[in-house]
Amino acid sequence: MSVTAIIGAQWGDEGKGKIVDYYCNHFPQDMVIRSQGGPNAGHTIYLDNDISKKVTLRQIPSGIFAKKKLSIIGAGTVINPVTLVEEMNKLQGLGVDFNKNTLLISHRAHLIFPWHLQEDKKDNKIGTTGNGIGPCYASKAKRIGITIGEFFNNTNIIKDFDDINLASDNTASYVDALKILKDQYSQLIVDTHPIVTKYLKENKNITLEGAQGLMLDLDFGTYPYVTSSSTTTAGLLNGAGIPPKYLTKTIGVFKAYTTRVGAGPFPSEDLTSYGENLQTLGHEFGSVTGRKRRTGHLDLVQLKYASEICGFDELAIVKWDIIEKFDYMKIAYDYTSTNADQTPDQAIYQRFEDPKNNSSSILKYIEEKLSGPKITMLSYGPKRDDIKLL
Ligand code: GDP
Repeated sequence: MSVTAIIGAQWGDEGKGKIVDYYCNHFPQDMVIRSQGGPNAGHTIYLDNDISKKVTLRQIPSGIFAKKKLSIIGAGTVINPVTLVEEMNKLQGLGVDFNKNTLLISHRAHLIFPWHLQEDKKDNKIGTTGNGIGPCYASKAKRIGITIGEFFNNTNIIKDFDDINLASDNTASYVDALKILKDQYSQLIVDTHPIVTKYLKENKNITLEGAQGLMLDLDFGTYPYVTSSSTTTAGLLNGAGIPPKYLTKTIGVFKAYTTRVGAGPFPSEDLTSYGENLQTLGHEFGSVTGRKRRTGHLDLVQLKYASEICGFDELAIVKWDIIEKFDYMKIAYDYTSTNADQTPDQAIYQRFEDPKNNSSSILKYIEEKLSGPKITMLSYGPKRDDIKLL
């Protein structure tokens, strides 16, 4: 029996999708749960180890491509029916068959409505992806949200989809998507609690797939430049409905450098040509939005913090192939000071020459500074199997 949480240790886009996919294929899992978040940045996988077969998953767990395993969109998530149906259609084209043995959607997940999207676009100072996720979570917290189960089961809420007064753009596609979900997939929208409990009782192996990263956590991230859900290990357990006593392992995923999208503190940001090269060589553009990611150096103060909050047992370092292209890499191990808002001013670095030929001493340095978790996976390319187990 195992429950493994796989979590982004930085500001998101760390390559969690690839690590979850790899983990599910090499350490066979019975269930994968997306516990929190909504359809913002996607998790990227290249099928058949083929760089031309790129799939970006936005709501469906990245474990969907591993065989004999049930994927769950958990209670802590928020769902946009349009993107969900689009994603399901795309995956069906790739041979995924959606039935009760492959995908279930918690009836407790909340629905993103067109007005949530409108609100997000109207007031977007912090640079969110504008997908209505924050406003939907706000409705949930205000107790005026509507869960997907309630929406489909309570005929008093919606008697006829065509009568819904969804005064906004995209209304037609929104209503169409709801109809498709109701007509074709309503058997997938269930109370997932008894099923998760049954898997736990039967000592099965479960993976929790995190979305975003710890530094975007609503409570422990760089507030207010954060996401609207809990990205910690505890948040993942909560969104999945799994008691903490069942957790067996937490894996933190991080890049060999640092990126972040949108506004907010970034102490190791590099605004010189080094940072630009990280952006270009690392293809640091949003997988769904196409937005340029801010780039900088690996920051061990930040990573240690993430590890303390999440309790990482193991670490997966990705994009090692990118840092190998540089003559040197810098690793932040301290900050000069923190200002009045407790925001770090500037990072202090240790410089390492020729990362390509010094990888083992660099990895050892990282582990020593983090004093606890071990680096067990090193990803050296975007392809599915470009991973070395350490
Ligand atoms: P996620 O949201 O955390 O799953 O990350 P994204 O999918 O948004 O972004 C990670 C990007 O890095 C994707 O385009 C991956 O294909 C790519 N990627 C993952 N691991 C590696 C790696 O080791 N090397 C390179 N070059 N690309 C990688």
